Amino acid sequence: MTWLLWLMVVTGLATPASALELDAARLIDLTHAFDADTIYWPTAKPFLLEPVAHGVTPGGWWYAANNFCAAEHGGTHLDAPIHFAADRWTADQVPLERLVGPALVVDLSEKAARDADALLTRADLDGFEAERGVIPPGTIVLVRTGWDRWWDDRAHYLGTAVPGDTAHLHFPGVAGEAAAWLTTARRIRAVGIDTASIDRGASVDFRAHRAFANANTPIFENLTNLGALPAQGAVFIGLPMKIGGGSGGPLRAVALLP
Ligand SMILES: [Zn+2]
Repeated sequence: MTWLLWLMVVTGLATPASALELDAARLIDLTHAFDADTIYWPTAKPFLLEPVAHGVTPGGWWYAANNFCAAEHGGTHLDAPIHFAADRWTADQVPLERLVGPALVVDLSEKAARDADALLTRADLDGFEAERGVIPPGTIVLVRTGWDRWWDDRAHYLGTAVPGDTAHLHFPGVAGEAAAWLTTARRIRAVGIDTASIDRGASVDFRAHRAFANANTPIFENLTNLGALPAQGAVFIGLPMKIGGGSGGPLRAVALLP
């Protein structure tokens, strides 16, 4: 027993936040698998897994290994601020504190079901706050559009399944004015969405990307399972590959439910 633990036992202090609390929590995977079917931007290199070994070696033991190759921006991934703003954080520079934190889930799924070009607007956020209270600074705002249910249908998920076609993208996103307001009036920690981009597919000026990036706000895209999260109370953990100088990268995102 360490002296600290001994001190806590004799003084009756609770054990520190530790494995005990983690065991009681429920983990939700918010990540799509990376494989040959993973959706990437129409102009990006898709995920490629190149087998190196898979079998019993001449020595008699099992050995499996692969090489992989992929664009930074595809599948469940991070957009580092440098993606859309000069002199902002690269993937490896984003502080861990910006990748882990309390999450609020803003549900846009009804609006999105009616309109593939739906935007999360200031009015939607006002409505959310009227119901749930003011979004505290340091929140990770997760925008649920329900689009993850089209993940296996690329044409529906993106609006087009044609490689290289960025002229016919249709999926919901966040309005530029809403993004700017979240970074300035609410000083959120990070933002995430269950579509291919924080700007809607039809966007030509990427105002949401630019507003978040300018404020050094990390963006998580192509999340899944946001419908399994409560509107408030979850902790989001989004740990991207730490690519030196990267503009983003593959991400393993999970939520911790109380
Ligand atoms: Zn991206």
